[in-house]
Amino acid sequence: MIPKKYTGTVLVVGETIEGRLSAKSIDLGKQAAQLAGRFNGKPVGVLTGHDIDTAALAWSKAAGMPVIVLDHAHCRYPNPPLTASGVGALVDEHSALAVCFPHSMRACQAAATLAWRIEAPCVTAVDSLLKENGQWVFERAVFGGKLRETVSAANRPIVLTVMPGLVSRSASPDLTGHFPSVETRHLADTDHRFIPRGMNRQAHTDQALERAQVVVAAGRGLKGPEHKCLLEAAAGMFNHAAIGGSRGACDLGWLPHSLQIGETGRTVAPALYLACGISGAPQHLAGMRESRTVVAVNTDPKAAICNLAHYAVIEDLTVFLPVLRERYDRMTEKGDEE
Ligand SMILES: Cc1cc2nc3c(=O)[nH]c(=O)nc-3n(C[C@H](O)[C@H](O)[C@H](O)COP(=O)(O)OP(=O)(O)OC[C@H]3O[C@@H](n4cnc5c(N)ncnc54)[C@H](O)[C@@H]3O)c2cc1C
Repeated sequence: MIPKKYTGTVLVVGETIEGRLSAKSIDLGKQAAQLAGRFNGKPVGVLTGHDIDTAALAWSKAAGMPVIVLDHAHCRYPNPPLTASGVGALVDEHSALAVCFPHSMRACQAAATLAWRIEAPCVTAVDSLLKENGQWVFERAVFGGKLRETVSAANRPIVLTVMPGLVSRSASPDLTGHFPSVETRHLADTDHRFIPRGMNRQAHTDQALERAQVVVAAGRGLKGPEHKCLLEAAAGMFNHAAIGGSRGACDLGWLPHSLQIGETGRTVAPALYLACGISGAPQHLAGMRESRTVVAVNTDPKAAICNLAHYAVIEDLTVFLPVLRERYDRMTEKGDEE
């Protein structure tokens, strides 16, 4: 039974970096109306930053929800402790039923701090939301995506971090009768010890990965840099192809970190994603789940990537990729002769 106080609003919390909305906040905005609808509530956006009225208005317009700006000079870069204290005050004011953050490291920190402050349950990395016997049940991947965990939380309000694409992004929010609105609140200059000084942008030499129609990505199943030539040979079969990798492969130095795909790497959405020796941890899936067709090459049929893949090739990649290239060469040679 939900206490009467927590009835209406779902707070949807986004962040800005140097005045610009983060990509995950834009994504969460697109999901806001549907997310709130699942709780039978209405979304109210909360955006942290400094001098961000323009970004807030754009967010309100695109997401179809009113936006409250929490403004402070120390929020020019994401500031989890200040976010938690600002949002905490709004939870009471709005009798919020739920507070949804995007799933990122910074947002997890803010979500956990907020949950502790308001004594609410906190569920992170939620990728599915169901109602069973009148009670909300949240699902998420654990153990690198090998297992799925189901969590229910009786208390309200509840604090969540939400994976991209929890609700369909194809249905854009209904903006009928919506007038974008922004209300700015200046956070008190409290004596806090966390002052973000700046963020370093990862130096991507180009946008080839994001623009590629085909991404051939490798994980730790590659076994070593000596097998990189297999990826190059596979990519060479397509026009507009690029090579990427999991964090596992990049951390081992087999591929440069600039090619890492995932939550803390780059986001791609090619027509074809060929995942070679990648287990499919949620953090990796976050960067490629919008790919149109996913083909997994993996020795383990139970690897999480095989659940997402449209086609799974259960084989050693050092066996499969050379055969694939050989067949392709034979076919194209035949084509040349004809
Ligand atoms: C905060 C945080 C952020 C993260 N951000 C990212 C991120 O942005 N991107 C990312 O990728 N990860 C990220 N990770 C790491 C992530 O959790 C996984 O550890 C990582 O994705 C695993 O990489 P992998 O799939 O290459 O390796 P593994 O999990 O070791 O999987 C290797 C796979 O290869 C298969 N395999 C083995 N040998 C072969 C073979 N010969 N042929 C075919 N298949 C074979 C295995 O069956 C296995 O499925 C993050 C983790 C944290 C905690």
